[in-house]
Amino acid sequence: MALHEGRPFVTAMGAVELWHRVCFDDRDALVTRSTPADFLPTPPTPRFIRVLGGVVAASMLVSIVVGQWTWGEMAPPLAASIANVELTAPEPVSARLFDTARERIPSRIVTVETELEARYPVPLRGADRLDEKFPSLRAWTHPVSGTPELMPAQGSRHFGAQRIGIERAECGEGHCGVDLDGPRGRPIVAVAAGTVVRIELSELGLDGRSGRYVRIEHDDGTLTAYMHMDDVAELRVGERVTGGQYLGTLGATAVFSSAPHLHFSLEVPLHAGQHGDTTDTRYVDPAPYLVRATIAPSSTAVASRRTHTHPLKPAF
Ligand SMILES: [Zn+2]
Repeated sequence: MALHEGRPFVTAMGAVELWHRVCFDDRDALVTRSTPADFLPTPPTPRFIRVLGGVVAASMLVSIVVGQWTWGEMAPPLAASIANVELTAPEPVSARLFDTARERIPSRIVTVETELEARYPVPLRGADRLDEKFPSLRAWTHPVSGTPELMPAQGSRHFGAQRIGIERAECGEGHCGVDLDGPRGRPIVAVAAGTVVRIELSELGLDGRSGRYVRIEHDDGTLTAYMHMDDVAELRVGERVTGGQYLGTLGATAVFSSAPHLHFSLEVPLHAGQHGDTTDTRYVDPAPYLVRATIAPSSTAVASRRTHTHPLKPAF
């Protein structure tokens, strides 16, 4: 390397040196290797930020808990004066036991009820159970007071059983209700509160096959009908009735070929807000609500019976 290629270079110490090109290259290489970025901390990754956030939140929570515990520990106790000690009554153990005993659910025939409820589940209308859409279905009183059975065992008495001459698509083979057995004269009661919308007192009913009957519209728009009754209570169309109210007696009007029974039917309205004695309805099987109904004692139903009943019209 020739001397004339060198250039004067002032060092950091103030000395003048003669640097060749190679000297400058070495220095530049050293500067390039040690870029400032190499000495900066690594920028935090999103994961690191999340973990840090979690740690901060957890420590804040711990601080709050510890703070409250400390506050609780440090809170002064309630002043116990002689006055409030005297006024504090001892725990009423006996009264509490008595309340618990009274709250016990009345016993029913659980096994039968469970089997029947499993056999007759409440159907769905869309995504909801039908008794969510129509709340009056939830707490029926069984229409036949004192009945030993919630539903008849015989298939021919069920909804959808074969009946000749009835054309309702929703009623299966023709039977649009359930035939409930019972002795003639047994009090029939309303299943839920509602308004009387039809009373038919002629021996055969308007269609020659319903007999004497009462039709009730409930507050959610559902309708129930009670057919083949011998006596009908003194009711007027438009009159309010309560659940369990006496409507008439189980009978055999327009019953020709079977034992006396109550033909009981349930209809749901086709349109929201419709009311009155409408036929714009759909019959549905009342069995799921009958098997969940409460049975009114016959004596209670008789007690609510009015003294006056319509005289029977002569049979023809
Ligand atoms: Zn029937």
